[in-house]
Amino acid sequence: MQPAARIWGFAAVRLLATVALGLIGGALAHYPWAGVACALAAYLTWQLVLLGRVDWWLHHRSVAEPPETGGVWGRVISQIVRLHRRKRFHKQRFVQLMRQLRLSTAALPNGVVILDAQREIVWFNRMAGRLLGLRPAVDLGLRVENLLREPQFARYLQKGDYSNPVVIRRSSPQQTFLSLQLVPYGDGEQLLLATDVSRQVRLEAVRRDFVANASHELRSPLTVISGYLETLSQDPALDAELVGPIGEMRRQAERMTSIIHDLLELSRLEETDEWVRGEPLDVAALMAVLRKDVLARPVHPREVRVQVDSDAALLGKESEIHSAFANLVDNAAKYTPPEGSVQMRWWVDADGGHFSVSDTGIGIPPEHIPRLTERFYRVDPGRSRSTGGSGLGLAIVKHVLQRHEADLEIQSAPGKGSAFTCHFPPQRVSRESETLVGE
Ligand code: ADP
Repeated sequence: MQPAARIWGFAAVRLLATVALGLIGGALAHYPWAGVACALAAYLTWQLVLLGRVDWWLHHRSVAEPPETGGVWGRVISQIVRLHRRKRFHKQRFVQLMRQLRLSTAALPNGVVILDAQREIVWFNRMAGRLLGLRPAVDLGLRVENLLREPQFARYLQKGDYSNPVVIRRSSPQQTFLSLQLVPYGDGEQLLLATDVSRQVRLEAVRRDFVANASHELRSPLTVISGYLETLSQDPALDAELVGPIGEMRRQAERMTSIIHDLLELSRLEETDEWVRGEPLDVAALMAVLRKDVLARPVHPREVRVQVDSDAALLGKESEIHSAFANLVDNAAKYTPPEGSVQMRWWVDADGGHFSVSDTGIGIPPEHIPRLTERFYRVDPGRSRSTGGSGLGLAIVKHVLQRHEADLEIQSAPGKGSAFTCHFPPQRVSRESETLVGE
Protein backbone atom coordinates (compact mmCIF):
# COMPACT_ATOMS: atom_id res chain seq x y z
CA MET A 1 0.00 0.00 0.00
CA GLN A 2 1.24 3.46 -0.82
CA PRO A 3 2.03 5.84 2.05
CA ALA A 4 -0.99 7.82 3.27
CA ALA A 5 0.69 11.25 2.78
CA ARG A 6 1.34 10.51 -0.88
CA ILE A 7 -2.22 9.37 -1.56
CA TRP A 8 -3.81 12.29 0.27
CA GLY A 9 -1.35 14.73 -1.42
CA PHE A 10 -2.28 13.32 -4.82
CA ALA A 11 -6.01 13.66 -4.02
CA ALA A 12 -5.48 17.30 -3.02
CA VAL A 13 -3.55 18.01 -6.26
CA ARG A 14 -6.35 16.39 -8.27
CA LEU A 15 -8.96 18.55 -6.55
CA LEU A 16 -6.92 21.70 -7.18
CA ALA A 17 -6.39 20.70 -10.81
CA THR A 18 -10.17 20.19 -11.23
CA VAL A 19 -10.84 23.64 -9.75
CA ALA A 20 -8.12 25.19 -12.00
CA LEU A 21 -9.53 23.50 -15.11
CA GLY A 22 -13.05 24.67 -14.22
CA LEU A 23 -11.71 28.21 -13.71
CA ILE A 24 -9.86 28.24 -17.04
CA GLY A 25 -12.80 26.73 -18.96
CA GLY A 26 -15.22 29.16 -17.26
CA ALA A 27 -12.93 32.14 -17.97
CA LEU A 28 -12.82 31.25 -21.65
CA ALA A 29 -16.63 31.33 -21.66
CA HIS A 30 -16.62 34.54 -19.54
CA TYR A 31 -18.16 32.74 -16.56
CA PRO A 32 -15.17 31.71 -14.42
CA TRP A 33 -17.15 30.83 -11.23
CA ALA A 34 -19.75 28.88 -13.16
CA GLY A 35 -16.85 26.91 -14.64
CA VAL A 36 -15.49 26.21 -11.12
CA ALA A 37 -18.96 25.18 -9.93
CA CYS A 38 -19.39 22.80 -12.88
CA ALA A 39 -15.93 21.27 -12.31
CA LEU A 40 -16.66 20.77 -8.58
CA ALA A 41 -20.08 19.24 -9.38
CA ALA A 42 -18.39 16.80 -11.79
CA TYR A 43 -15.79 15.99 -9.14
CA LEU A 44 -18.45 15.42 -6.51
CA THR A 45 -20.47 13.23 -8.89
CA TRP A 46 -17.42 11.09 -9.56
CA GLN A 47 -16.79 10.73 -5.82
CA LEU A 48 -20.44 9.73 -5.32
CA VAL A 49 -20.09 7.08 -8.03
CA LEU A 50 -17.02 5.69 -6.26
CA LEU A 51 -18.84 5.78 -2.90
CA GLY A 52 -21.76 3.92 -4.49
CA ARG A 53 -19.39 1.22 -5.79
CA VAL A 54 -17.83 0.87 -2.33
CA ASP A 55 -21.29 0.69 -0.76
CA TRP A 56 -22.40 -1.97 -3.26
CA TRP A 57 -19.22 -3.97 -2.60
CA LEU A 58 -19.73 -3.75 1.19
CA HIS A 59 -23.18 -5.28 0.75
CA HIS A 60 -21.93 -8.06 -1.53
CA ARG A 61 -18.56 -8.52 0.13
CA SER A 62 -18.86 -12.27 0.47
CA VAL A 63 -19.25 -12.80 -3.31
CA ALA A 64 -17.81 -9.70 -5.00
CA GLU A 65 -14.21 -8.60 -5.42
CA PRO A 66 -13.39 -5.12 -4.08
CA PRO A 67 -13.64 -2.36 -6.74
CA GLU A 68 -10.36 -1.20 -8.31
CA THR A 69 -10.58 2.49 -7.52
CA GLY A 70 -7.11 3.49 -6.45
CA GLY A 71 -6.49 6.78 -4.67
CA VAL A 72 -8.16 7.63 -1.38
CA TRP A 73 -11.05 5.18 -1.92
CA GLY A 74 -8.59 2.43 -2.77
CA ARG A 75 -6.86 3.08 0.53
CA VAL A 76 -10.16 3.02 2.45
CA ILE A 77 -11.11 -0.26 0.74
CA SER A 78 -7.79 -1.94 1.53
CA GLN A 79 -8.18 -0.86 5.21
CA ILE A 80 -11.66 -2.42 5.30
CA VAL A 81 -10.32 -5.62 3.70
CA ARG A 82 -7.55 -5.81 6.31
CA LEU A 83 -9.95 -5.27 9.23
CA HIS A 84 -12.31 -7.86 7.82
CA ARG A 85 -9.51 -10.44 7.44
CA ARG A 86 -8.37 -9.85 11.02
CA LYS A 87 -11.94 -10.20 12.33
CA ARG A 88 -12.44 -13.41 10.35
CA PHE A 89 -9.17 -14.81 11.72
CA HIS A 90 -10.19 -14.08 15.36
CA LYS A 91 -13.67 -15.45 14.79
CA GLN A 92 -12.25 -18.67 13.36
CA ARG A 93 -9.89 -18.99 16.29
CA PHE A 94 -12.74 -18.38 18.74
CA VAL A 95 -14.99 -20.92 17.04
CA GLN A 96 -12.12 -23.45 17.06
CA LEU A 97 -11.45 -22.79 20.75
CA MET A 98 -15.14 -23.20 21.60
CA ARG A 99 -15.20 -26.47 19.67
CA GLN A 100 -12.13 -27.73 21.54
CA LEU A 101 -13.66 -26.64 24.83
CA ARG A 102 -16.94 -28.39 24.05
CA LEU A 103 -15.18 -31.58 22.99
CA SER A 104 -12.78 -31.58 25.98
CA THR A 105 -15.49 -30.88 28.58
CA ALA A 106 -17.63 -33.61 27.01
CA ALA A 107 -14.68 -36.03 27.29
CA LEU A 108 -13.93 -35.06 30.91
CA PRO A 109 -14.32 -37.96 33.33
CA ASN A 110 -15.67 -35.43 35.88
CA GLY A 111 -18.97 -33.63 35.90
CA VAL A 112 -18.82 -29.84 35.61
CA VAL A 113 -21.82 -27.57 36.24
CA ILE A 114 -21.68 -23.78 35.89
CA LEU A 115 -23.92 -22.00 38.39
CA ASP A 116 -24.78 -18.32 38.50
CA ALA A 117 -24.82 -16.18 41.65
CA GLN A 118 -28.28 -17.56 42.58
CA ARG A 119 -26.95 -21.12 42.16
CA GLU A 120 -29.09 -21.60 39.05
CA ILE A 121 -27.70 -23.98 36.45
CA VAL A 122 -26.24 -22.13 33.47
CA TRP A 123 -24.49 -25.01 31.72
CA PHE A 124 -23.31 -28.56 32.44
CA ASN A 125 -21.21 -31.12 30.60
CA ARG A 126 -22.26 -34.59 29.53
CA MET A 127 -20.73 -36.34 32.56
CA ALA A 128 -22.53 -33.99 34.98
CA GLY A 129 -25.77 -34.86 33.23
CA ARG A 130 -25.04 -38.56 33.66
CA LEU A 131 -23.80 -38.42 37.27
CA LEU A 132 -26.33 -35.96 38.63
CA GLY A 133 -29.25 -36.95 36.41
CA LEU A 134 -29.52 -33.47 34.88
CA ARG A 135 -31.57 -33.12 31.70
CA PRO A 136 -30.26 -30.82 28.95
CA ALA A 137 -32.46 -27.77 28.39
CA VAL A 138 -35.08 -28.88 30.96
CA ASP A 139 -32.94 -28.35 34.05
CA LEU A 140 -31.15 -25.22 32.85
CA GLY A 141 -32.12 -22.23 34.99
CA LEU A 142 -33.19 -24.37 37.97
CA ARG A 143 -31.55 -24.01 41.37
CA VAL A 144 -29.08 -26.81 42.00
CA GLU A 145 -30.34 -27.48 45.56
CA ASN A 146 -33.79 -28.20 44.14
CA LEU A 147 -32.31 -30.92 41.94
CA LEU A 148 -29.77 -32.37 44.39
CA ARG A 149 -31.81 -32.90 47.53
CA GLU A 150 -29.37 -35.11 49.49
CA PRO A 151 -29.13 -33.85 53.11
CA GLN A 152 -25.31 -33.98 53.07
CA PHE A 153 -25.27 -31.60 50.10
CA ALA A 154 -27.80 -29.26 51.75
CA ARG A 155 -25.58 -29.15 54.86
CA TYR A 156 -22.50 -28.52 52.71
CA LEU A 157 -24.23 -25.53 51.09
CA GLN A 158 -25.46 -24.29 54.44
CA LYS A 159 -22.00 -24.51 56.01
CA GLY A 160 -20.47 -22.35 53.26
CA ASP A 161 -16.98 -23.85 53.61
CA TYR A 162 -16.17 -25.28 50.19
CA SER A 163 -12.47 -26.00 50.73
CA ASN A 164 -13.16 -29.76 50.85
CA PRO A 165 -15.56 -31.84 48.78
CA VAL A 166 -18.62 -33.54 50.26
CA VAL A 167 -19.48 -37.16 49.46
CA ILE A 168 -23.15 -37.93 48.84
CA ARG A 169 -24.90 -41.22 48.22
CA ARG A 170 -27.35 -41.49 45.35
CA SER A 171 -29.58 -44.48 45.10
CA SER A 172 -31.07 -44.04 41.65
CA PRO A 173 -30.63 -45.44 39.05
CA GLN A 174 -28.06 -47.47 40.98
CA GLN A 175 -26.22 -46.84 44.23
CA THR A 176 -23.32 -44.46 43.60
CA PHE A 177 -21.17 -42.25 45.77
CA LEU A 178 -20.40 -38.83 44.37
CA SER A 179 -17.86 -36.33 45.56
CA LEU A 180 -19.18 -32.79 45.04
CA GLN A 181 -17.19 -29.59 45.41
CA LEU A 182 -18.17 -25.99 44.77
CA VAL A 183 -15.49 -23.70 43.38
CA PRO A 184 -16.42 -20.00 43.55
CA TYR A 185 -15.19 -17.77 40.71
CA GLY A 186 -15.93 -14.45 39.03
CA ASP A 187 -18.71 -12.33 40.49
CA GLY A 188 -20.49 -14.82 42.76
CA GLU A 189 -20.64 -17.56 40.12
CA GLN A 190 -19.68 -21.10 41.07
CA LEU A 191 -18.46 -24.28 39.43
CA LEU A 192 -19.85 -27.53 40.78
CA LEU A 193 -17.42 -30.41 40.23
CA ALA A 194 -18.80 -33.93 40.52
CA THR A 195 -16.70 -37.11 40.60
CA ASP A 196 -17.84 -40.70 40.93
CA VAL A 197 -16.00 -42.04 43.99
CA SER A 198 -18.03 -45.24 44.41
CA ARG A 199 -14.95 -47.43 43.89
CA GLN A 200 -12.90 -45.56 46.49
CA VAL A 201 -15.78 -45.60 48.98
CA ARG A 202 -16.22 -49.36 48.53
CA LEU A 203 -12.49 -50.01 48.88
CA GLU A 204 -12.47 -47.83 51.98
CA ALA A 205 -15.37 -49.85 53.39
CA VAL A 206 -13.48 -53.10 52.69
CA ARG A 207 -10.40 -51.69 54.43
CA ARG A 208 -12.45 -50.53 57.39
CA ASP A 209 -14.19 -53.87 57.72
CA PHE A 210 -10.87 -55.66 57.51
CA VAL A 211 -9.33 -53.53 60.26
CA ALA A 212 -12.44 -53.88 62.42
CA ASN A 213 -12.62 -57.67 61.93
CA ALA A 214 -8.89 -58.19 62.45
CA SER A 215 -8.96 -56.07 65.63
CA HIS A 216 -11.99 -57.95 66.85
CA GLU A 217 -10.37 -61.32 66.20
CA LEU A 218 -7.16 -60.27 67.96
CA ARG A 219 -8.99 -59.14 71.07
CA SER A 220 -9.84 -62.60 72.47
CA PRO A 221 -6.36 -64.21 72.16
CA LEU A 222 -4.84 -61.05 73.60
CA THR A 223 -7.18 -61.16 76.59
CA VAL A 224 -6.05 -64.75 77.26
CA ILE A 225 -2.35 -63.80 76.93
CA SER A 226 -2.80 -60.78 79.22
CA GLY A 227 -4.64 -62.93 81.77
CA TYR A 228 -1.88 -65.57 81.88
CA LEU A 229 0.82 -62.91 82.06
CA GLU A 230 -0.94 -61.29 84.99
CA THR A 231 -1.30 -64.61 86.80
CA LEU A 232 2.35 -65.41 86.09
CA SER A 233 3.56 -62.04 87.34
CA GLN A 234 1.73 -62.55 90.62
CA ASP A 235 3.17 -66.05 91.12
CA PRO A 236 5.53 -65.89 94.16
CA ALA A 237 7.45 -68.87 92.79
CA LEU A 238 8.36 -66.95 89.63
CA ASP A 239 12.04 -67.13 88.80
CA ALA A 240 13.64 -63.75 89.61
CA GLU A 241 15.21 -63.65 86.13
CA LEU A 242 11.77 -63.80 84.53
CA VAL A 243 10.21 -60.95 86.52
CA GLY A 244 11.63 -58.27 84.20
CA PRO A 245 10.75 -59.98 80.88
CA ILE A 246 7.27 -60.89 82.07
CA GLY A 247 6.68 -57.31 83.25
CA GLU A 248 7.77 -56.05 79.80
CA MET A 249 5.49 -58.61 78.09
CA ARG A 250 2.58 -57.36 80.20
CA ARG A 251 3.30 -53.75 79.22
CA GLN A 252 3.44 -54.67 75.53
CA ALA A 253 0.22 -56.70 75.82
CA GLU A 254 -1.43 -53.67 77.44
CA ARG A 255 -0.21 -51.49 74.56
CA MET A 256 -1.61 -53.94 72.02
CA THR A 257 -4.90 -53.95 73.88
CA SER A 258 -5.02 -50.17 73.81
CA ILE A 259 -4.18 -50.09 70.06
CA ILE A 260 -6.93 -52.63 69.34
CA HIS A 261 -9.37 -50.67 71.49
CA ASP A 262 -8.55 -47.48 69.57
CA LEU A 263 -8.72 -49.23 66.19
CA LEU A 264 -12.17 -50.58 67.01
CA GLU A 265 -13.33 -47.20 68.20
CA LEU A 266 -12.00 -45.52 65.06
CA SER A 267 -13.73 -48.10 62.83
CA ARG A 268 -16.99 -47.47 64.64
CA LEU A 269 -16.63 -43.70 64.26
CA GLU A 270 -15.74 -44.06 60.58
CA GLU A 271 -18.82 -46.15 59.85
CA THR A 272 -20.79 -43.02 59.10
CA ASP A 273 -20.08 -39.37 58.46
CA GLU A 274 -23.50 -38.41 59.78
CA TRP A 275 -23.61 -35.72 62.43
CA VAL A 276 -24.67 -37.08 65.79
CA ARG A 277 -27.74 -35.70 67.50
CA GLY A 278 -26.90 -34.30 70.86
CA GLU A 279 -27.97 -34.82 74.40
CA PRO A 280 -26.97 -32.03 76.79
CA LEU A 281 -23.63 -32.82 78.45
CA ASP A 282 -22.36 -31.28 81.65
CA VAL A 283 -18.87 -30.22 80.55
CA ALA A 284 -17.81 -29.11 84.04
CA ALA A 285 -18.57 -32.56 85.49
CA LEU A 286 -16.70 -34.21 82.63
CA MET A 287 -13.67 -31.97 83.24
CA ALA A 288 -13.68 -32.89 86.92
CA VAL A 289 -13.60 -36.62 86.01
CA LEU A 290 -10.78 -36.05 83.52
CA ARG A 291 -8.80 -34.11 86.11
CA LYS A 292 -9.13 -36.99 88.57
CA ASP A 293 -7.97 -39.45 85.88
CA VAL A 294 -4.81 -37.42 85.27
CA LEU A 295 -4.04 -37.16 88.99
CA ALA A 296 -4.52 -40.93 89.28
CA ARG A 297 -1.67 -41.59 86.82
CA PRO A 298 1.49 -42.87 88.54
CA VAL A 299 3.44 -39.96 87.02
CA HIS A 300 1.54 -36.78 86.24
CA PRO A 301 2.10 -33.02 85.89
CA ARG A 302 2.16 -31.31 89.28
CA GLU A 303 -0.68 -28.94 88.51
CA VAL A 304 -3.94 -29.79 86.70
CA ARG A 305 -6.25 -26.77 86.54
CA VAL A 306 -9.86 -26.61 85.42
CA GLN A 307 -11.47 -23.35 84.32
CA VAL A 308 -15.21 -23.37 83.63
CA ASP A 309 -16.36 -20.01 82.22
CA SER A 310 -19.88 -21.08 81.31
CA ASP A 311 -22.33 -23.66 82.60
CA ALA A 312 -23.97 -23.98 79.17
CA ALA A 313 -24.27 -27.63 78.17
CA LEU A 314 -22.62 -29.13 75.13
CA LEU A 315 -24.98 -31.02 72.81
CA GLY A 316 -23.27 -34.23 71.82
CA LYS A 317 -22.85 -37.93 72.34
CA GLU A 318 -21.50 -38.50 75.81
CA SER A 319 -19.31 -41.55 75.05
CA GLU A 320 -17.69 -39.89 72.02
CA ILE A 321 -17.11 -36.50 73.65
CA HIS A 322 -15.68 -38.20 76.72
CA SER A 323 -13.31 -40.22 74.53
CA ALA A 324 -12.17 -37.16 72.52
CA PHE A 325 -11.61 -34.91 75.54
CA ALA A 326 -9.91 -37.76 77.44
CA ASN A 327 -7.50 -38.29 74.54
CA LEU A 328 -6.52 -34.61 74.58
CA VAL A 329 -6.09 -34.53 78.35
CA ASP A 330 -4.22 -37.84 78.28
CA ASN A 331 -1.80 -36.47 75.66
CA ALA A 332 -1.23 -33.30 77.70
CA ALA A 333 -0.44 -35.43 80.74
CA LYS A 334 1.83 -37.78 78.75
CA TYR A 335 3.85 -35.08 77.04
CA THR A 336 4.25 -32.75 80.05
CA PRO A 337 6.95 -33.39 82.68
CA PRO A 338 5.91 -33.74 86.37
CA GLU A 339 7.01 -30.18 87.15
CA GLY A 340 4.78 -28.78 84.37
CA SER A 341 1.09 -27.94 84.36
CA VAL A 342 -2.05 -28.77 82.39
CA GLN A 343 -5.13 -26.60 82.08
CA MET A 344 -8.62 -27.41 80.79
CA ARG A 345 -11.04 -24.64 79.90
CA TRP A 346 -14.67 -24.49 78.69
CA TRP A 347 -16.15 -21.23 77.48
CA VAL A 348 -18.98 -20.03 75.27
CA ASP A 349 -19.13 -16.97 73.03
CA ALA A 350 -20.95 -15.81 69.91
CA ASP A 351 -19.00 -18.33 67.77
CA GLY A 352 -20.13 -21.29 69.90
CA GLY A 353 -18.61 -23.45 72.64
CA HIS A 354 -14.90 -24.02 73.06
CA PHE A 355 -13.02 -26.66 75.01
CA SER A 356 -9.27 -26.31 75.28
CA VAL A 357 -6.48 -28.34 76.84
CA SER A 358 -3.19 -26.50 77.21
CA ASP A 359 0.03 -27.73 78.73
CA THR A 360 3.54 -26.54 79.42
CA GLY A 361 5.02 -29.74 78.00
CA ILE A 362 7.50 -30.63 75.27
CA GLY A 363 5.53 -28.92 72.46
CA ILE A 364 5.43 -29.88 68.79
CA PRO A 365 7.61 -28.51 65.94
CA PRO A 366 5.38 -26.60 63.46
CA GLU A 367 6.07 -28.91 60.48
CA HIS A 368 4.35 -31.82 62.30
CA ILE A 369 1.17 -29.97 63.29
CA PRO A 370 -0.81 -30.39 60.01
CA ARG A 371 -0.29 -34.19 60.10
CA LEU A 372 -0.97 -34.91 63.78
CA THR A 373 -4.51 -36.19 63.24
CA GLU A 374 -3.39 -38.85 60.73
CA ARG A 375 -3.56 -42.41 62.00
CA PHE A 376 -0.33 -43.60 63.61
CA TYR A 377 1.36 -40.25 63.02
CA ARG A 378 3.80 -39.54 65.82
CA VAL A 379 6.28 -36.71 66.23
CA ASP A 380 8.70 -38.92 68.13
CA PRO A 381 7.71 -42.60 67.67
CA GLY A 382 10.07 -43.82 70.41
CA ARG A 383 8.68 -41.40 72.95
CA SER A 384 5.07 -42.10 72.04
CA ARG A 385 5.59 -45.86 72.37
CA SER A 386 7.36 -45.49 75.69
CA THR A 387 4.39 -43.50 77.01
CA GLY A 388 2.01 -46.22 75.81
CA GLY A 389 0.54 -44.14 72.94
CA SER A 390 -1.27 -45.93 70.14
CA GLY A 391 -0.82 -43.07 67.64
CA LEU A 392 -4.58 -43.09 67.07
CA GLY A 393 -5.72 -40.68 69.77
CA LEU A 394 -5.88 -37.51 67.68
CA ALA A 395 -7.41 -39.39 64.73
CA ILE A 396 -10.23 -40.36 67.10
CA VAL A 397 -10.52 -36.76 68.31
CA LYS A 398 -10.77 -35.51 64.71
CA HIS A 399 -13.54 -37.98 63.85
CA VAL A 400 -15.54 -37.27 66.97
CA LEU A 401 -15.32 -33.53 66.32
CA GLN A 402 -16.34 -33.99 62.68
CA ARG A 403 -19.46 -35.83 63.84
CA HIS A 404 -20.22 -32.89 66.14
CA GLU A 405 -19.68 -30.21 63.42
CA ALA A 406 -16.62 -29.04 65.34
CA ASP A 407 -13.00 -28.20 64.43
CA LEU A 408 -9.74 -28.86 66.19
CA GLU A 409 -7.21 -26.02 66.48
CA ILE A 410 -3.64 -26.88 67.45
CA GLN A 411 -1.14 -24.31 68.70
CA SER A 412 2.24 -25.44 69.90
CA ALA A 413 5.82 -24.36 70.32
CA PRO A 414 8.66 -26.83 71.00
CA GLY A 415 9.85 -26.60 74.58
CA LYS A 416 7.02 -24.23 75.58
CA GLY A 417 3.86 -26.33 75.42
CA SER A 418 0.75 -26.97 73.37
CA ALA A 419 -2.89 -25.95 73.26
CA PHE A 420 -5.55 -28.13 71.61
CA THR A 421 -8.89 -26.35 71.24
CA CYS A 422 -12.18 -27.87 70.09
CA HIS A 423 -14.51 -25.27 68.54
CA PHE A 424 -18.19 -26.27 68.56
CA PRO A 425 -20.71 -24.22 66.53
CA PRO A 426 -23.47 -22.29 68.41
CA GLN A 427 -26.13 -24.92 67.60
CA ARG A 428 -24.10 -27.44 69.62
CA VAL A 429 -24.40 -25.35 72.79
CA SER A 430 -27.48 -25.39 74.97
CA ARG A 431 -27.78 -22.14 76.87
CA GLU A 432 -31.05 -23.09 78.56
CA SER A 433 -29.62 -23.48 82.04
CA GLU A 434 -26.81 -21.02 81.43
CA THR A 435 -25.83 -18.58 84.11
CA LEU A 436 -22.30 -17.37 83.85
CA VAL A 437 -20.04 -18.79 86.49
CA GLY A 438 -19.21 -16.14 89.03
CA GLU A 439 -22.49 -14.27 88.51
P1 ADP B 1 -0.19 -40.98 70.72
O1 ADP B 1 -1.03 -42.11 71.16
O2 ADP B 1 1.11 -41.37 70.13
O3 ADP B 1 -0.10 -39.92 71.75
P2 ADP B 1 -1.92 -39.21 69.30
O4 ADP B 1 -2.66 -39.38 68.01
O5 ADP B 1 -2.72 -38.94 70.51
O6 ADP B 1 -0.99 -40.44 69.45
O7 ADP B 1 -0.91 -38.01 69.09
C1 ADP B 1 -0.10 -37.99 67.93
C2 ADP B 1 1.24 -37.36 68.23
O8 ADP B 1 1.04 -35.98 68.52
C3 ADP B 1 1.90 -37.92 69.46
O9 ADP B 1 2.67 -39.04 69.15
C4 ADP B 1 2.77 -36.77 69.93
O10 ADP B 1 3.99 -36.78 69.24
C5 ADP B 1 2.00 -35.54 69.48
N1 ADP B 1 1.23 -34.91 70.58
C6 ADP B 1 -0.08 -35.04 70.83
N2 ADP B 1 -0.44 -34.29 71.90
C7 ADP B 1 0.68 -33.68 72.33
C8 ADP B 1 0.96 -32.75 73.40
N3 ADP B 1 0.02 -32.31 74.22
N4 ADP B 1 2.25 -32.32 73.54
C9 ADP B 1 3.20 -32.74 72.68
N5 ADP B 1 2.99 -33.61 71.67
C10 ADP B 1 1.75 -34.07 71.48
